[in-house]
Amino acid sequence: MGDVGELILQNLNPAQREAVTAPDGPLLVFAGAGSGKTRVLTRRIAYLIAVRDVHPSEILAVTFTNKAADVMRGRVEELLGRHAMGMWIHTFHGACVRILRSHAERVGRKPGFSIYDEADQQTLLKELFGVCEIDTDVFAVRQAAYLFDQAKNEAADPATLASHAPPSLREKYVHLCQLYATRVREANAFDFGDLIVETLRLLRENPEVRDGYRGRFRHLLVDEFQDTNRAQDLLIDELLGAHRNLMVVGDDDQSIYRWRGARIQNILDFEKKFPEAKVIVLGTNYRSTSRILQAADAVIKQNRGRKPKTLDTPNPEGAAIQRFVADDEYDEARFVARTAQELVTRRGLRPGDIAVFYRTNAQSRMIEEKLLETGLPYVVIGGTRFYDRKEVKDALGYLRLLINPNDGVALGRVINVPARNIGPRTVERIAAFAQEKACDVVAACRRVGAGEGELPTGARGRVAAFAQLIDRATTFAQEHKPSVTAGYVLREAGYIAALEASKKVEDKTRLENLAELLKAIEDFEDENEDEATLSLFLERVSLLSDPDLYDERANAISLMTLHAAKGLEFPAVIMIGLEDGLLPHSRSKESPAEFEEERRLCYVGITRTKERLFLTAAAMRRSFGGVPMPTRLSPFWFDLPPQLVEDIGSTRPNVSAFTTTRSTAFSSGPTTRLIRPREETIDPLFDYDESQDPADQPKLELLCRVRHPHFGPGVVTHLAGSGQLARATVRFDKFGEKTLILKYANLQYVAPPSEHL
Ligand code: ATP
Ligand code: MG
Repeated sequence: MGDVGELILQNLNPAQREAVTAPDGPLLVFAGAGSGKTRVLTRRIAYLIAVRDVHPSEILAVTFTNKAADVMRGRVEELLGRHAMGMWIHTFHGACVRILRSHAERVGRKPGFSIYDEADQQTLLKELFGVCEIDTDVFAVRQAAYLFDQAKNEAADPATLASHAPPSLREKYVHLCQLYATRVREANAFDFGDLIVETLRLLRENPEVRDGYRGRFRHLLVDEFQDTNRAQDLLIDELLGAHRNLMVVGDDDQSIYRWRGARIQNILDFEKKFPEAKVIVLGTNYRSTSRILQAADAVIKQNRGRKPKTLDTPNPEGAAIQRFVADDEYDEARFVARTAQELVTRRGLRPGDIAVFYRTNAQSRMIEEKLLETGLPYVVIGGTRFYDRKEVKDALGYLRLLINPNDGVALGRVINVPARNIGPRTVERIAAFAQEKACDVVAACRRVGAGEGELPTGARGRVAAFAQLIDRATTFAQEHKPSVTAGYVLREAGYIAALEASKKVEDKTRLENLAELLKAIEDFEDENEDEATLSLFLERVSLLSDPDLYDERANAISLMTLHAAKGLEFPAVIMIGLEDGLLPHSRSKESPAEFEEERRLCYVGITRTKERLFLTAAAMRRSFGGVPMPTRLSPFWFDLPPQLVEDIGSTRPNVSAFTTTRSTAFSSGPTTRLIRPREETIDPLFDYDESQDPADQPKLELLCRVRHPHFGPGVVTHLAGSGQLARATVRFDKFGEKTLILKYANLQYVAPPSEHL
């Protein structure tokens, strides 16, 4: 073995080495978090190429996100340089798109096909609900989309789930399924689920195509195998040649995509399916401190549906895990901001070393608000994504039409944007015409505009003008770079002019976002040079998922859901909202399997941490109507052994999260406690900061000065009610007058009337 071989095996323990150098045949690396599974998979790719003379093009590696794929490709290239060219390292969806582009005709498509995202899918479904006369009060479009996805995750026809539709609608549902499939095909499109299912069909129905891939890919490698669904598992079966060179790595404890059809069973049954498989267990965690690892283990071992495993670490014991119960979500957000600030100013961490995890996207807003005040840079991964913004989707709609003139959803989106006085009835007529004449929708516009289809003269002219616009831009696109084409079509369409003419502030933002989109296309062109086609750009955008937007170079605090955190690691992690009903999510109440999945989510969150872990809960949290409700601590909170944690006190001014400790008030056991408002509480934990107890404070009086956690300083202008219903009206310096229920408002007394008058 040469120098490169040595390099590839550097910094691997014996079990990891064994996995990297394992002989041909099925190989399962089954191991807990942070044990080097991804490292081993990456090194094995390099090893196969450098030492075993496998050609890069004979390798297909599948990762969970595009981001992970990029990182993996980068690592292999670091080791091998140009020798690594030609590997396929993709997500399942990405690999399927590549396969489908080469054989689109065989599944009734053309190579320029569109990929319908959730919004496109719903637009089409909404239209078809009308056609099938399905009452949306009885059966929602979202429910249909959900059933379609569920079926496709199982590689089944959506029509087989008819029993899940309301009894009166079953026949219509089946009709809807057929119509939907036909319309997606006619639009030369695939929805997300189709990408996998149609690839599967392609391979099954065309043995010569399948054998081509089986012959080509001598090695298949899959990371995060615990989150594969049935369709993906079947896809692997189709692609796997007689050599059975399949390496999968995963951890049953980190399976968190049940709702997308992930089947833990795929990894648990691997040995049954491949009795000759070599199984390697990695037992050393290199990521986390010993305390964090013990905490993670204490949480996950409560689950029943798992294979027990132990993890050691050579890392030091590390700092205690700090837990904080906030008064409410404002207080929680303040704690996060303060903790982040301390980590940066006192502990020397970079903002990029810190992550905040939550169960639901909605939790990020409050955290953002408070982080903003600190001036620390932060990024929110997910939430409303750039590519989901209206103007960006409109622009992409135009571009899609240039590549795929069959794309009816794109046409429907842009034909009257900006307003061209082309109404929905006209659009329906165009769609019907395209159906009748079996032509694409752009051709239908052209022909209807020229007089076929009997539109009134005015509408005819407007449709003709639109068709000319698309035709002009399509020709333009053939001779220009994607970024130039995008600018051209937006200008020619009058889109830019309409925004420029508008006086609305949000339209200014829209213009900025479009400029940003053009820049994104230019960046894409720089990165991909000759291969930078418009079609590839649209494909990349369609396949983006939230975690892909995580950029470690940004050096900003990352805010993301626990789902998006999978596979990543951070020196410091703040996990918020450990409350019953949030984590575990209220939806998991009824099902033990879902409850265990929530615990796995918690485990994933904890195990992302290298050194410092903070867990928070809020004693009160506002629900939908904005009404604050008392919460309960998460059962997972009590899974942590007391000796590993430190319960910390208030974050109010002058009190440092790092110096004020209040140890183990929770230690009494695993029962879930009710958290009540501070005034009523007798639990020692919740009046942790006695000096702040309202009973000790001067009473509020008219014109006294107060501070609110969210609205800041203000003056009391009116007092009313008593007891539970006592209210104060406060004129806030920045937010104007508001009336607040004292019990929930968490107002802080600042000064009596005289001192500030
Ligand atoms: P997860 O379960 O979260 O996906 P994983 O098992 O894939 O984790 P990796 O991400 O590959 O683990 O590795 C975890 C961390 O440990 C990484 O920072 C990696 O670089 C480091 N690491 C892995 N193996 C070793 C080793 N032998 N020596 C030192 N560090 C290692
Ligand atoms: Mg990994």
